[in-house]
Amino acid sequence: MFTQPSRHLFLSNQIRRLQSTLVIAEHNNEALSAVTQNTLSAAKKIGGDVSVLVAGTKCGPAAEKIAKAGGISKVLVAESDAFKGFTAESLTPLIIATQKQFKFTHILAPATAFGKAVLPRVAAKLDVSPITDIIGVKDANTFVRTIYAGNAILTLEAKDPIKVITVRGTAFPPEPLEGGSAAVEKAPDGDYKTDLTEFVSQELTKSDRPELTSAKNIVSGGRGLKSGDNFKLLYDLADKLNAAVGASRAAVDAGFVPNDLQIGQTGKIVAPDLYIAVGISGAIQHLAGMKDSKTIVAINKDPEAPIFQVSDYGLVADLFKAVPELTSKL
Ligand SMILES: Cc1cc2nc3c(=O)[nH]c(=O)nc-3n(C[C@H](O)[C@H](O)[C@H](O)COP(=O)(O)OP(=O)(O)OC[C@H]3O[C@@H](n4cnc5c(N)ncnc54)[C@H](O)[C@@H]3O)c2cc1C
Repeated sequence: MFTQPSRHLFLSNQIRRLQSTLVIAEHNNEALSAVTQNTLSAAKKIGGDVSVLVAGTKCGPAAEKIAKAGGISKVLVAESDAFKGFTAESLTPLIIATQKQFKFTHILAPATAFGKAVLPRVAAKLDVSPITDIIGVKDANTFVRTIYAGNAILTLEAKDPIKVITVRGTAFPPEPLEGGSAAVEKAPDGDYKTDLTEFVSQELTKSDRPELTSAKNIVSGGRGLKSGDNFKLLYDLADKLNAAVGASRAAVDAGFVPNDLQIGQTGKIVAPDLYIAVGISGAIQHLAGMKDSKTIVAINKDPEAPIFQVSDYGLVADLFKAVPELTSKL
């Protein structure tokens, strides 16, 4: 016999016990992408048993790292040349085979280029709707995500038996990689080679600066910079602040900087402690990528620029005077 509250607690614990989540780790075989830790924390918020799938060519080191996170029951490892380049076409059959064996209720991956490529394919194969880019977990069936370029927040209840979800990293704290010792096991064997795509090569941007999506400080430039050469002003300021440098789409489209610097709806989503927007008007598609930053500083010569509506500190000034002055005072 249970009293009402303890019966409720008993039932919700039973339901949680039936839940199990698979997190697809993003990594480069050696190191985990930081966003894997954020995805893990979303999985823990859902509750129940959490497992992680690490698939790569020689991904032992990455698997060992994630096994140290607390609260994971097992790490499933799949090593094969088929996973070179981490293509969605080779990973999907592995995830489906893993799902068949373990019958997870939730499958999660980060909402990065990696997760956005793999999980919709997995959802299609499982005949369920993917739930993309969640920013909150209310309970095991109810999730929060933004719509209309971040202008409205939607809470959705998922009815599919398997929830296939991508997670916005900046909305969840990183799960520390310490305190745990999960069992490391082999993922289901199979022939995961595919003729659909072939990984040829990749060229990665090398930079000594912090990575944009995990940087604590970001200095970001827009069309107001007028040329790629003028971005040097921002690099000088960023050096003083140990900051990453970002850009608006207009600055990227004008060829001032490469497109991996783009922040916004169709670029990267960031939420640093400090975001300095220089010569950026604050279009809604840009705000969608940075408005969760803790402190926003805007430098713009137009007092009517919409960026001032979201900024904590605004400086109406010519950036070509204000930025060097700021850099020299730091
Ligand atoms: C589907 C879609 C997706 C999009 N995705 C993105 C996205 O992901 N990211 C993104 O950024 N945009 C995106 N955009 C584009 C977006 O709508 C804007 O066009 C873009 O953000 C504008 O960039 P900007 O602020 O650099 O340029 P502008 O809007 O031209 O603003 C330049 C600003 O610089 C200021 N300025 C000029 N000279 C100076 C000076 N000397 N000193 C100080 N200030 C100065 C001006 O006052 C102005 O406010 C998207 C658009 C669409 C339709």
